[in-house]
Amino acid sequence: MADCIFCKIIEGEIPSSKVYEDENMYAFRDIEPQAPVHVLIVPKKHITSLDGCSPEDAEILGKVMVKVKEIAEIAGITNGYRLVSNCGEDGFQTVEHIHFHLLGGRPMLWPPG
Ligand code: 5GP
Ligand code: ZN
Repeated sequence: MADCIFCKIIEGEIPSSKVYEDENMYAFRDIEPQAPVHVLIVPKKHITSLDGCSPEDAEILGKVMVKVKEIAEIAGITNGYRLVSNCGEDGFQTVEHIHFHLLGGRPMLWPPG
């Protein structure tokens, strides 16, 4: 998608601090970290959100899920983490390319607020 900031990051048109990459996904440090470790895990396919995904996306989204523990380890998380995908207006999604926030390095609050 031409005007998508995460597509541009995946293509290297916008610089980012890479944590992990393979043919399906790209993971990089959030520019405005909300925890000592804050990584964004982004499928390379432009899917808008959890609301915007379809059954054909199940394989790639599954591949992202089973890779999370490895990305957490690479990012230096050693004591657990939280994985979040904000969706839509009430979910406070600001970038319309599906992504998973990997947060760690401190105890997380629950309920999240
Ligand atoms: P959302 O609000 O959609 O759940 O998450 C978008 C995230 O992308 C935010 O945490 C925001 O800080 C991050 N972000 C937005 N623009 C950039 C950027 O250009 N580079 C990086 N590394 N992160 C970004
Ligand atoms: Zn995109």
